[in-house]
Amino acid sequence: MSEYILPEILENEAEKLWKNLGGRELSVKERRLIGQQDMPTQNPDDRRCNMEEVAIGYTENQVKVEALRCLQCKNAPCIAGCPVSIDIPKFIAHAAMGEFAESIAVIKESSLLPAICGRVCPQEKQCMLPCTVGKMLKDPEKAVAIGRIERYVSDWEVEHDAVAAIPVSAATGKKVAVIGSGPSGLTAAADIRREGHEVTVFEAFHKPGGVTVYGIPEFRLPKAIVERDVENLVAMGVFFETNFLVGRTRKIGDMLAEDGYDALYIATGAGLPKFMNIPGENLVGVFSANEYLTRSNLMKAYATEKADTPMYSAKKVCVFGGGNVAMDAARTAVRLGAEEVHIVYRRTEKELPARVEEVHHAMEEGVIFDLLTSPTQIFGDEEGRVTSIECLHYELGEPDDSGRRRPVPIAGSEFVMECDACITSIGNASNPLIKQTTPDLNVNKWGNIIVEEATGKTSIDKVYAGGDIVLGAATVILAMGEGRRAAKAINEQLAG
Ligand code: FAD
Ligand code: SF4
Ligand code: SF4
Repeated sequence: MSEYILPEILENEAEKLWKNLGGRELSVKERRLIGQQDMPTQNPDDRRCNMEEVAIGYTENQVKVEALRCLQCKNAPCIAGCPVSIDIPKFIAHAAMGEFAESIAVIKESSLLPAICGRVCPQEKQCMLPCTVGKMLKDPEKAVAIGRIERYVSDWEVEHDAVAAIPVSAATGKKVAVIGSGPSGLTAAADIRREGHEVTVFEAFHKPGGVTVYGIPEFRLPKAIVERDVENLVAMGVFFETNFLVGRTRKIGDMLAEDGYDALYIATGAGLPKFMNIPGENLVGVFSANEYLTRSNLMKAYATEKADTPMYSAKKVCVFGGGNVAMDAARTAVRLGAEEVHIVYRRTEKELPARVEEVHHAMEEGVIFDLLTSPTQIFGDEEGRVTSIECLHYELGEPDDSGRRRPVPIAGSEFVMECDACITSIGNASNPLIKQTTPDLNVNKWGNIIVEEATGKTSIDKVYAGGDIVLGAATVILAMGEGRRAAKAINEQLAG
């Protein structure tokens, strides 16, 4: 049995606080006095050795106390920070009163996947960023913990067997293909199916869910949650065709001309890893974060005794990059038994693009951060296996186009670090297969599909696109928002 880190306000204190405050109108002053509830987590020493979810979730008392921190602002700036415009004060007001069924119903008016978003949304850069409480405390991290409350009520719905079936209108006889089963494809599929159209989701992998299944590790997002969301779609009558690579198994043109689809939604994500183009990247023991995470998450390669393609065993792992994907790869390497895991990143901790919470968790789990450092080459032994890397130290110069200070290499600062595996995590681009097999599809210089902003319509009639394949590597909630927008346009096209 794991030992858990206790929340900031202990459980019985939270209960007392809610009993004292919960039943009456609170003044702004009283609400401001309530401290943000910490998320209980698995103890770092325990979680280094298991794949179970790190965050355990609020207790009922904690969620009610956290919800009482919301000032119920009339202009609700938080709503503008949420890409799908959830009525945040309304769902939080219900949660504060323990009305969890009402609370989740409000969220579901705008979001299909709240248990996923409550866990992985970069909330401090979205809904929490404009929150008045965070502004008053001059720290968006201390704003009302909107996502944690969202996570609680969505888990509550499942635990209480209260998930309502999504109603589907009478069959229209129209057929729609959704290509890609990530958050964008799943959201579009649900919204199109609601209108009574036949929907088939085509997925290249053997499991639906996109990055939420193959990329984000179990310890951040349990796969059972995604499977449950997919089952809800199956219950609505959505068909899934897995191991189906559009562009190879079947081309877009054939699906329109021969297979009788009335509309297509392309949501194939940004799954093509970028490499650093440094010497030694072809050595055995160098992985893209995508490959590393996919092997671990989707193929369960961490179960080294049972897996067909077990994980490459490594004692000292270097991860190149500082985003969420890099943190996921580093923390996975820890769990796969590496004795030392390094994040090698060109800028400082302040510029790390990963969520603060993920960086904090990685540090707690013993990941070592080599900041202002970047690899220049990878060395191998006579069998072609990684043995070490050469790095350069950097300093920060003037801000670049992104507004961040540009990392400048320090001449003569080369040093060699031993390691037996390297994971590159410097970003993803879109897979070119669909573009290569669909000549009339317009894409930009990065290979992202160009669409009409209001509808998601591409350069080909009846073909729409959204999510990371349009935005470039973005977020779950933005991909969902795109799916919803395109579904609306497709439904309008089919109704017309
Ligand atoms: P995806 O989720 O990429 O789904 C696309 C699907 O299309 C895939 O299943 C793919 O196999 C399938 N596909 C591709 N080509 C074809 C084809 N030709 N035929 C059939 N199927 C095809 N976002 C957050 O908000 N929070 C996070 O914490 C976070 N962490 C992340 C961690 C990792 C490791 C990664 C890689 C990304 C993370 N993201 C995070 C980003 C987020 O997951 C993506 O923005 C989001 O999943 C994009 O959704 P999508 O539906 O557009 O595409
Ligand atoms: Fe915030 Fe994401 Fe929930 Fe919107 S979906 S309220 S951005 S956590
Ligand atoms: Fe509540 Fe913050 Fe939204 Fe105001 S901005 S309504 S305090 S969540």
